[in-house]
Amino acid sequence: MVDRAIDLSCAKCGACTVVCPVFRVDPRESLTARGKMHLLSLPFVGAPSRHFQDIFSQCLLCGACEQACSRHLPITTLITRARGRFPQFYGAHPLQKTVVRKVLASSGLLANLVRAGISLQRINALPVRSGLRLKLGLLEAPVAEVVEKETCYGGKTGNDLSYFPGCLARYLQPSVAAATVRLAEIAGYSLDVPAAQGCCGLAARAAGREDEARELAWNNIQAFAESTGPILTSCASCSSHLATYPDLFQDDPEKSVKAREFAGRVIEFCTFFLEQSDLKPSSRQALKVFYHDPCHLRHRDWGRDNPRKLIDRIDNVERVESPAGPQCCGQGGLFQLGYPETSAGIFQRCADNGLGCAPDLVVTTCSGCLMQWQQGKVEHDLPLAVSHLAILLADCLD
Ligand code: SF4
Ligand code: SF4
Repeated sequence: MVDRAIDLSCAKCGACTVVCPVFRVDPRESLTARGKMHLLSLPFVGAPSRHFQDIFSQCLLCGACEQACSRHLPITTLITRARGRFPQFYGAHPLQKTVVRKVLASSGLLANLVRAGISLQRINALPVRSGLRLKLGLLEAPVAEVVEKETCYGGKTGNDLSYFPGCLARYLQPSVAAATVRLAEIAGYSLDVPAAQGCCGLAARAAGREDEARELAWNNIQAFAESTGPILTSCASCSSHLATYPDLFQDDPEKSVKAREFAGRVIEFCTFFLEQSDLKPSSRQALKVFYHDPCHLRHRDWGRDNPRKLIDRIDNVERVESPAGPQCCGQGGLFQLGYPETSAGIFQRCADNGLGCAPDLVVTTCSGCLMQWQQGKVEHDLPLAVSHLAILLADCLD
């Protein structure tokens, strides 16, 4: 019923088609938001067909269409709701996608896997051209020790500023978490990093598993319940998802209040440091820096220009912009696993855009975008460095 009403309000204007990164690489009407809205208007009989599942899986949930939509349709919500009707396994690498989602959902399992299985020695044993080696080679080691030592998990620090690093910075790219903690220290804060926090739940929600996403959200709400101050994030995708927790508890008035309180405390680290500190970073060498906009920051009115303002504060750094404007990198969480060719095509456009500015360094503020650029750099031997903005800032302050 709801979907029918949504379709009736779709103006078929096509504004969503112009901005869709998937449509740019694979120009089929069915892959656009307009096409999907039309399909949702048709009566459903029985289980969704494989073709239907394929169409609804081919979306990065980037939010570009939602921002462009003249009718303000909740397109990404409708797409994830449609995915909730899928049987358990679908698309390329269905089992791997399920396993990744399950592993993310269990922080204890992820920590143990990291401790037991991911080491440089094991990565080096893989064949040189192995895709797995390329991906794992991007990770840092020894992972668990670094993050636990440098970010004081489980320690209460005495002030009321908390930190939600997200799974990648916590377990796989701990230098991002360490740099964020260092930035806070330099600005005069120490961070409380509750040990009980887990995955933000974005992967579960993107797969249409609302119950799983709700469970993960509630765990995080409780993990941060001992404090009341701001919750700093260093990943745009986590930030945008944490802010939507109230949507998950609409039918539960008590939890809904707590979810709203929690979401109201979340603040992306660039916005926090711009508003709350007078950091004066300076680079030892002259650098041309290209900032890659994460879609989850760009399309959701979360201070998209704040990272730029922070970069502009760095002495000896020239920020370069492409005339074509920001482009999606094609990572999209598990999208990259399910549709590697489309993802690679989207990244190629994005990389050409950045390379046209001839930067020394690409920085971003999303763990997923960071991995996509790191992988692209290795695969295509790109002549530039790639880093998280928190790392650049911390390096320029030490
Ligand atoms: S969310 Fe992004 S990828 Fe998905 S339909 Fe909209 S614009 Fe295309
Ligand atoms: S932009 Fe919105 S109203 Fe226009 S075609 Fe796309 S979904 Fe429909």
